[in-house]
Amino acid sequence: MDYPDFAPKLIDWYNHHQRDLPWRHTKNPYFIWLSEVILQQTRVAQGLPYYVRFTEKYPTIFDLAAADEQELMRLWQGLGYYSRARNLHATAKLVVAQLDGKFPERYADLIKLKGIGPYTAAAIASFAFGERVAVVDGNVYRVLARIFGVDQDITSTEGKKTFQSLANVLISPHNPSVYNQAIMEFGAVQCSPASPDCLLCPFQEQCVANATGQQNKLPVKAKKAPPRKRFFHYFVVEQNGKLALKQRTQKDIWQELYDFYLLEPAAPAASLDELDPNDALRALLQNASKISRSDGFVHLLTHQTIEAIFWRVTVEGEKEITLPEGLVFYSATQIEQLPKPVLIGNYLVANYTF
Ligand code: SF4
Repeated sequence: MDYPDFAPKLIDWYNHHQRDLPWRHTKNPYFIWLSEVILQQTRVAQGLPYYVRFTEKYPTIFDLAAADEQELMRLWQGLGYYSRARNLHATAKLVVAQLDGKFPERYADLIKLKGIGPYTAAAIASFAFGERVAVVDGNVYRVLARIFGVDQDITSTEGKKTFQSLANVLISPHNPSVYNQAIMEFGAVQCSPASPDCLLCPFQEQCVANATGQQNKLPVKAKKAPPRKRFFHYFVVEQNGKLALKQRTQKDIWQELYDFYLLEPAAPAASLDELDPNDALRALLQNASKISRSDGFVHLLTHQTIEAIFWRVTVEGEKEITLPEGLVFYSATQIEQLPKPVLIGNYLVANYTF
């Protein structure tokens, strides 16, 4: 198809089919940034309540910069990829401390901020400030690959360059903001991954994928490695109605969230002996009045599958024990306030009244 036809046709489609979403009613770069970070790796239906909660709790970048880290992580709970929340906080602090709370207006400056990559920088620069810089996300790859029949791998450096160049040529010089929103919306609504609505598509006649029946083959994406399997054995130490938790400080999933004492063998283990507890844990187990083992919990993350067993270790009230390093007893009310991985939250809901 002719390149000049592309943007007007797309914008016309958008004017008739766009969903009414709260971040579409603002030019405030802070709200646009929040929405874009929340929506990374997240469906709109899932991200929308988080966006509403964040904008209510932190209505300005000054509020976010001054936020209590633990409270922020708690608000993020369930969205996954927790480094996004930490980066939001770090960038808010920097923009407040060094830029008087004013977001940079140019793509070239935005991309220097922590947690803001090419896609988010392009979204903020174009939506808030009208800069002509094309966004390229999963939706855009799909739409361009199908309409123009581009069969390069979208995960390869070469492929990324090709799509970015094409997107830069296609973007409307008159209305880059609406164009960028239109192409993403078109990918999400009309040209969806599994069931593109080709029959009612304005690009039906020009689309290479439609003409050649390649909707399911485009875009081309190299096969991902299968998820890594991990085996978690949690020890839930319970005394006087309190449970012992610790903050995860290591560079791993769920950094800074709270979970229980954890042993992670390389292969599934059926008994405590197979787990080979260390001295601190062994001493704790010897003091327990009761130890019970849960059924397995399977928890799926994008790149990992976790098979978790919970060992409930009950210690009588008056017994003096030494908790392994990092563990602290918390009451039910305190635990409710702690940011926790969904796996831990699910276990608590299934086994306790909080
Ligand atoms: S014709 Fe089908 S595959 Fe092509 S752009 Fe339209 S919805 Fe997508």
